[in-house]
Amino acid sequence: MTFKRIDQMIDGMHHNVQIIPIPAFKDNYIWLIHNGQQAVVVDPGDATAVMQTLKQLKLNLNGILITHHHQDHIAGVADLLLAYPNIKVHAPKLESYAFAHTPVSDADTVKLDFFDLCFSVMLLPGHTLGHVAYLSDNKDGEQLLFCGDTLFGAGCGRLFEGSPAQMYDSLQRLASLPPSTKVYCSHEYTLHNIEFATSLEPNNVALQERKLATLKLRDAGMPSLPSCIALELETNPFLRCNSVAIQAASGLNSRAQVAVFSRIRELRNAY
Ligand SMILES: [Zn+2]
Repeated sequence: MTFKRIDQMIDGMHHNVQIIPIPAFKDNYIWLIHNGQQAVVVDPGDATAVMQTLKQLKLNLNGILITHHHQDHIAGVADLLLAYPNIKVHAPKLESYAFAHTPVSDADTVKLDFFDLCFSVMLLPGHTLGHVAYLSDNKDGEQLLFCGDTLFGAGCGRLFEGSPAQMYDSLQRLASLPPSTKVYCSHEYTLHNIEFATSLEPNNVALQERKLATLKLRDAGMPSLPSCIALELETNPFLRCNSVAIQAASGLNSRAQVAVFSRIRELRNAY
């Protein structure tokens, strides 16, 4: 996956930083946060892609944030630490890592040196048991969420380690964030997720609009992300287990939301 021009990847200014998706592998995004001089990357699965972007933008790597232990999120850390031995890596306390890191758990605070930016850590078990997300402080009124493989555009991560109830609770925590919260997911799955969501809710107008907007972005070689919580609440079936339409689409007699969630997650696995 490549983007046409790196300046198209720039996502505006937040908290005096810019946030850029570095495409990696087939459909991963390594999010790079920078202030024109210093940079922090989230889930660097591919060191080469990160190094190329740092070089191209003349940035110094200052830190790494890890959301969970899957290889496509951490495989670049060792090489980045060789090139930048003094940087700090933050990674979930409940998971084990071969590289030196500062373990983080729920409600911990991560202050990024050189940045006017502070994150609080959210423990979000489900995709993995120790999975965390990083939520920025709210100084400018718009929070930034780096949520790894928990929430995707119109979808959610697979349940590799956690139970449906755990993932449901984790997603509910994200659903209760301010609607303007920007959502930086780790994979470009949005279009396929929208197609699945449409199979459940063919009459959801917000979903139809999102499909058109997403097609336009992808046709232009642009990422479909970041999303925001408001858009996910309107279009993401995994945040809509309280809706009559999703409950009906689950084919269950039960309206128990965890059961509905579990069923539509199974349907998505086979989609
Ligand atoms: Zn993963």
